[in-house]
Amino acid sequence: MNKTVKKILITLTVVIVGCVNDESKKTETLVVQTAIQSPDFDVDTAYYFVEKQVSFGPRVPNSSSHRQCADFLINTLKNYADTVIVQNFEIRAYNGANLRSKNIIASFKPNMQKRILLAAHWDSRPYADHDPDPTNSRKPIDGANDGASGVGILLEIARQLSINEPVVGVDIILFDAEDYGAPEEERRASDENTWCLGAQFWATHPHTPNYRAKYGILLDMVGAKNATFTKEGASMHFAPDIVGNVWAKAQALGFGNYFQNQETSALIDDHIPINTHRNIPTIDIIDRRTTTVSGFYEHWHTLQDNMETIDKQTLSAVGKVVLYMVKNEN
Ligand SMILES: [Zn+2]
Repeated sequence: MNKTVKKILITLTVVIVGCVNDESKKTETLVVQTAIQSPDFDVDTAYYFVEKQVSFGPRVPNSSSHRQCADFLINTLKNYADTVIVQNFEIRAYNGANLRSKNIIASFKPNMQKRILLAAHWDSRPYADHDPDPTNSRKPIDGANDGASGVGILLEIARQLSINEPVVGVDIILFDAEDYGAPEEERRASDENTWCLGAQFWATHPHTPNYRAKYGILLDMVGAKNATFTKEGASMHFAPDIVGNVWAKAQALGFGNYFQNQETSALIDDHIPINTHRNIPTIDIIDRRTTTVSGFYEHWHTLQDNMETIDKQTLSAVGKVVLYMVKNEN
């Protein structure tokens, strides 16, 4: 994921919404808060799935760790989903390297028209280019939070959906080659498209022709301690209703300390090609911080993005919110 603001998003339309503040609204909110019940989501299993991915080593395309982790993800999802499709493709990185890549798509009720898309990236960054020690800048990272956390949550959601099948169709897409963007010291203004290569490929070559979903939720960096999920600018541009709904449910479930109402700048992440190429309103649940120079959690793109950064309470909050959305869709 890259913090550069996509050019098209600079022209975001500002919509002024009237302030509604009557008593009937307040009562309604209170009723929702007591009526909402947390779904079953086993955080120990989600944590295990994060740990397992990290145990293979950095999942950098063309590496053996990458191949081994792909096998694990595919075999695990085959246990839970109705169908698993693997998109094998080769794609050129910013440096000319040919990345042998795989998007992994697990579907529940694949023939159902009404669908929800859940996504995360499963590759990890080849460069610790934000490491405090510059001699580490070309080393690959564990990506426990940046990558594996979102995938771990989605694997546990898949397991839960195999126990209690969803009423709607669900597609879990694990995108490859998200984090192979040009390293900081080589970056040029034209490098925006060097990120999110797997999502770009899928958006132009969907796994089923004319693929549609009602909406999508992308998870990225969803496992660090004291995470703060703000309303990301591109999500607010393309899918403000989905952001509003997810944040309201998160707060009603008691996770308002994580899901904050503050709006932050637009990011380049896998939700951009889904929104722009497939016109599926898709939001990004991503950890933004006001306390760091990068605007991300402190170990972003460093060698410290390892299992020590992963916090079960954060995984649990995000997992429950996303599973709640899926289970209460009708
Ligand atoms: Zn990243």
